[in-house]
Amino acid sequence: MTDKHQVIIIGAGPAGYVAAIRCAQLGLDTVCIDRWVDEKGRATPGGTCLNVGCIPSKALLESSEYFERSRNDLANHGVKAVSVELDLATMMARKQKIVSGLNEGVAGLFKSNGVKFISGNARLAPNREVEVNETGEKKPYVLSAENIIIATGSVSSEISAAPLDGDRIVDSSGALAFEEVPKRLGVVGAGAIGLELGSVWRRLGSEVVLLEAQEQFLVIADEQIARDAMKEYTSQGMDIRLGARITGCKTSGKKVTVEYEDSDGTHQEIFDKLVMAVGRTPNTSGLNTSDSGLLLDEWGVIHVDNQCCTNLPCVYAIGDVVRGPMLAHKGSKEGIMVAELIAGQHAELDYDTIPSVIYTQPEIAWVGQTEQMLKSAGRDYRVGRFPFAASGRAQALGETGGMVKVLVDTATDRVLGVHIIGPQASELIAQAKLAMDFQASSEDIGLTMFAHPTLSEAFHEAALAVNGNAIHIGAKKKRKKK
Ligand code: FAD
Ligand code: NAD
Repeated sequence: MTDKHQVIIIGAGPAGYVAAIRCAQLGLDTVCIDRWVDEKGRATPGGTCLNVGCIPSKALLESSEYFERSRNDLANHGVKAVSVELDLATMMARKQKIVSGLNEGVAGLFKSNGVKFISGNARLAPNREVEVNETGEKKPYVLSAENIIIATGSVSSEISAAPLDGDRIVDSSGALAFEEVPKRLGVVGAGAIGLELGSVWRRLGSEVVLLEAQEQFLVIADEQIARDAMKEYTSQGMDIRLGARITGCKTSGKKVTVEYEDSDGTHQEIFDKLVMAVGRTPNTSGLNTSDSGLLLDEWGVIHVDNQCCTNLPCVYAIGDVVRGPMLAHKGSKEGIMVAELIAGQHAELDYDTIPSVIYTQPEIAWVGQTEQMLKSAGRDYRVGRFPFAASGRAQALGETGGMVKVLVDTATDRVLGVHIIGPQASELIAQAKLAMDFQASSEDIGLTMFAHPTLSEAFHEAALAVNGNAIHIGAKKKRKKK
């Protein structure tokens, strides 16, 4: 007889732990198993996001921004800092303290909600059985469940031309833990990780070169926003080389030499550290026994439908291990959806309006469709834009670059997409997501009232600008619709 539960969740990242808490809230007897441990062998639930992803990267982004602003911006505010010095060890310790505190927070939430947490490795077997190898124990045992949720996340992708060596060639986890500021830092991949970690180390003093395979910068963002972002990052001193295909890497002493090709030929660059940020791969290696029957594609992505059901009855998969953007909030929302489905409730997720943020300075954030998507679909749309330069609050902050851009359907005025580059874009995008979830039109947004002076007013004005009604834009600009 195996120990039987209503729900077993494999993985305690933002997809798995949120699913576990929601299952427990709904009265389901829930077990969550995760194998992540710290260097002392203690369980650290929270997954990639908490241990080596969203949280530590944002902690370093915040600290490095303080450092850069203290050196470059304080004087503009009439604040004289006599000398500003970097204490990297303290910065790293602060980051780790935040992570550890939140690890304890997740463990505490499990406890208070009645989720049974097991620190260990889990393997999916046939008939909704799970083989468990507890941390520090030799003998595995078997649990079974009426429902299983797989939330095993992802790991950094590797390319054969630049294999990681854990010292000079590292992945994002390595780049969150450098003990000194690399003089010259190479970053392969100008996606979210490359841009965010490149920003951290540039602010702390590295000369940063980003090598990106695509000819176009930030293809997933709205083209206009991506163009503005490229200009901004370049002016900050980030050296972004597009169309760069890595052909080889050599390490010697403390240096790494990277060879790459672009339309101008073959090139070589020498760096102190090289960060590989070329995407992430679903974490399914060793997840299931060969007879489990679980259907995966050739990249290891678990096959699921719109409600995260796998090909096996009552076995679900959520988060980075399935299709869709690899974002913490997407995984968490899938976790909630699946928990509610298991509890017999109606639940769904709108995959077309998952917000995205890149936490650079300025931040970039968007939700819904881009202008290029609307053009290629032949959709008739209108645009409203509002520059932060015309926002009193942005002026007071001293962050006047960027804009809010609202795209609407011409016939219905319904908002189809919102794109922001500028201060606090990560926070502002929530208003756009809310508006889109409630199927708002630009007129609806224009009719509401926003506090003054706030950055949010830029969203209000961009919505008003769709019909030429923005207040703080010159009359000539108002008439230019597209
Ligand atoms: P994970 O967080 O990867 O968690 C999976 C868990 O499953 C892990 O704890 C793992 O130990 C466990 N596990 C795997 N296999 C087994 C097994 N067989 N048995 C037991 N346990 C197992 N996303 C954002 O939305 N915003 C951001 O700002 C952001 N920043 C990021 C910065 C970096 C540097 C990185 C690397 C990622 C970032 N992401 C960000 C992406 C985000 O971290 C992921 O989308 C998110 O963590 C996915 O959640 P998940 O629960 O699906 O998987
Ligand atoms: P990504 O897919 O965002 O970007 C990878 C980049 O590497 C792409 O631009 C790609 O063209 C490039 N690339 C791929 N192979 C290459 C090669 N051989 N040479 C040069 N360039 C190459 O992936 P990422 O930045 O590694 O991030 C991984 C995941 O984590 C993403 O899904 C991302 O959404 C998520 N993440 C999100 C945030 C956030 O929400 N702020 C932050 C970090 C990571």
